[in-house]
Order: sequence, then C-alpha cells, then structure tokens
Amino acid sequence: MDNCLFCKIIKGEIPSNKVYEDDEILAFKDINPVAPVHILVIPKKHISCAKNIKVEDEALIGKIFTVINKIAEDLKLDKGFRIVNNCGEDGGQEVMHLHFHLLGGKKLGISF
Ligand code: AMP
Ligand code: ZN
Repeated sequence: MDNCLFCKIIKGEIPSNKVYEDDEILAFKDINPVAPVHILVIPKKHISCAKNIKVEDEALIGKIFTVINKIAEDLKLDKGFRIVNNCGEDGGQEVMHLHFHLLGGKKLGISF
C-alpha cells in the first residue's frame, strides 16, 4: 500500500529500530514507548486492521504469536508481558496496518 506508514517501514523507506525480521513478519521498537519494552509486531502483508483478517491469514496471524514469544524470550520478559491490538476508530487504531503492541519490562497497570 503506497500510503501506509508501516508498509514504508517494511520497504525501508522510513527507518525503524528492528528487533526481528523474516520473510513474513517484522518487529520494531515503537517510536513513542509507553513501557520499558514496547515493540510493534506486524505482518509484511498489508492487512488494514484485525477485522480484515481473512481465513487465508490464519497461519500468518498464528505465527505472529510465536514470533512474539521468541522476542519476549530474547528480551527476557520472564515475568510476562501484554499484547495489545487496537482495531478501528473506536479501538483507538492510528496506523491502519495490522500491528500488535508487545509491552513489558515492568508491572503494567490496567490502562494501556
Ligand atoms: P495504534 O494506535 O495501535 O495504531 O498504534 C500505532 C503506534 O505506532 C503508536 O504506538 C505509535 O507510537 C507508533 N508509531 C507511529 N509511527 C511510528 C514510527 N515511525 N516508528 C515506530 N512506531 C511508530
Ligand atoms: Zn501497510
């Protein structure tokens, strides 16, 4: 998608601080962290938001969660972490490319 911020990050047109990459998934540090660890994990395929995940994306979305586990292990988030997905306007989604926030490194409160 030409006008998508995260597609531009995937293509390297906008710099990012990458923590994981394979042919299907990219993870990079959030530019405005709200926790000591705040990483965005995204599919390289442009899916605008969670409600547009299709049956054919099931394996890809499942893989995102095992990648999150690998990152969490690498970063020694042994005491746990939080995964957040904001979907659409009411969900507070600002970037319309599916992404999962991986948050940790401290005991998190109720609000995000
Ligand atoms: P959301 O509100 O769920 O759509 O989250 C979008 C997230 O993207 C926010 O936490 C932003 O801080 C983050 N963000 C926006 N631009 C960038 C960027 N260039 N690099 C890294 N993170 C970004
Ligand atoms: Zn995109």
